[in-house]
Amino acid sequence: MDVYNVLKTYFGYEKFRIGQEKLVESIINGKDALGIMPTGGGKSLCYQLPAIILEGITIVISPLIALMKDQVDSLKEMGIAGTYINSTMEQNELITRINEIRENRYKILYVAPERLNTSYFKDLIKDIKISFVAIDEAHCISQWGHDFRPSYLEIPKFIDSLKTRPVVGAFTATATKEIVHEIKHLINLNNPVESIIGFDRPNLFYEVVKTSNKFSYLVDYLNSNFQEDTGIIYCATRKTVESLVKKLNDKGFSAIGYHGGMDSEERQQNQDDFIFNRTRIIVATNAFGMGIDKPDVRFVVHYNMPKNMEAYYQEAGRAGRDGEKSNCTLLYSPSDVVKQKLIIQNENLSNEREELIYKNLQYLVGYCHTNDCLRNSILSYFGEEIENSKCNNCGNCLDQSEMMDITEESQKILSCIYRTNQRYGLTTIIQVLRGSKNKRLIEFGLDKVSTYGIMTDYSEIAVREITMTLVSKGYIHITADKFPILKLTEKSREVLKGEVKVYHKKHLVERKIVGNEKEG
Ligand code: ADP
Repeated sequence: MDVYNVLKTYFGYEKFRIGQEKLVESIINGKDALGIMPTGGGKSLCYQLPAIILEGITIVISPLIALMKDQVDSLKEMGIAGTYINSTMEQNELITRINEIRENRYKILYVAPERLNTSYFKDLIKDIKISFVAIDEAHCISQWGHDFRPSYLEIPKFIDSLKTRPVVGAFTATATKEIVHEIKHLINLNNPVESIIGFDRPNLFYEVVKTSNKFSYLVDYLNSNFQEDTGIIYCATRKTVESLVKKLNDKGFSAIGYHGGMDSEERQQNQDDFIFNRTRIIVATNAFGMGIDKPDVRFVVHYNMPKNMEAYYQEAGRAGRDGEKSNCTLLYSPSDVVKQKLIIQNENLSNEREELIYKNLQYLVGYCHTNDCLRNSILSYFGEEIENSKCNNCGNCLDQSEMMDITEESQKILSCIYRTNQRYGLTTIIQVLRGSKNKRLIEFGLDKVSTYGIMTDYSEIAVREITMTLVSKGYIHITADKFPILKLTEKSREVLKGEVKVYHKKHLVERKIVGNEKEG
């Protein structure tokens, strides 16, 4: 059967999606492949289809033990003989399965990376023809990524131990340069055919909302958007998940929670309730979602900012897999940045890695503060650009709010950074500008600098907002440290000399103090 026949007969599709054919052809022709496609792009077909055509069995290495059964079930529905072995199986079930595999009853075998180099697995595959090894979620091999799994490092050893080297394919939705490099290098792909598919998801509407009352914003949002449809609300912590579920239930919304602290039965139950539309909303930590293929998620709200753009893109990307219009809304507050920093600080990382992680976090903070096209900001993170600088389908492009000239305020902030010798972080700079009586400030003599108290008529939030806008525009650089310091850049001078004007949304800059916001 040729590839088109297989595509039609087994998968029921008339044509390939962009990028799929190239990978499928190369694998069938014995060449290694690297497929980088956004979530929902159709990676599974790129290894499942060749598996049907190739002789012998294809091993799919996947970290998602919980989903193997689902994947195998859906293969069965398509008439493809697939199976899996993993740690959740009973001993006798395992033995039956192993015997069936030995009898060549399957075309696809899903296995977790931890199994690969165990003696029983080695023994199992000793006499089996393995034509193709597909590595799903291949970015898990990279220590730079957000999903690093040490067991992925076992994969090359496993491939090397096979009698004949199979074709190897790596698939991921993560496309940052460092990670792609690591995947190719660590997995030892042999001159692979690469297919990198556009990361733009035109049906997704991106927006960042700054509100001092996230919950009441959320309630309005849920009442006015996609009332009948389902969506995901991501929170930073298990505690927030639990309290938000309760608050939403109290308001009469059909919502359930999902996080790593629940027992696996409850988690599975909640996941199923969401997937099969028995509940409208799932409130979850980032434990939820990898590999979940629910096509009609109409909104993904981030109640807290995640740790970097990659994580945001992946999580938000779970909306609208069916190509229908869907919303990705990030509710931003500076205290989320503090939360993320605390998480990073508790991780005990090497300096080099910590710097990278802060840099990545900073990019997302920049995304939250930019006035420019949000889609462009996302795509440029992944090294892509859109043709026009505006997509006309994101919160910023469609924002009609009145802009205000903030050049003078910007000059005050930049001067303050300069006058304090570019040695302090955001909180201190804001305190100096607002003439704080903080003891530490006075000890350092910062109440003596000429910029002390020159912005007393602005709320802390407004000064922070303007400063962060200057960061997002490249007029201020924040060092990637545990205690980030604000520094001037080459471009700062243009603002200081009045050569360029700076604008920002009036309503954000005029805001009055709300609560006690902490450092962001
Ligand atoms: P990924 O693993 O890249 O996140 P999947 O492999 O789960 O994405 O595919 C996402 C969706 O796209 C699935 O519902 C799948 O059936 C569908 N799909 C994949 N390839 C095609 C195709 N050629 N034509 C139409 N739909 C496709």
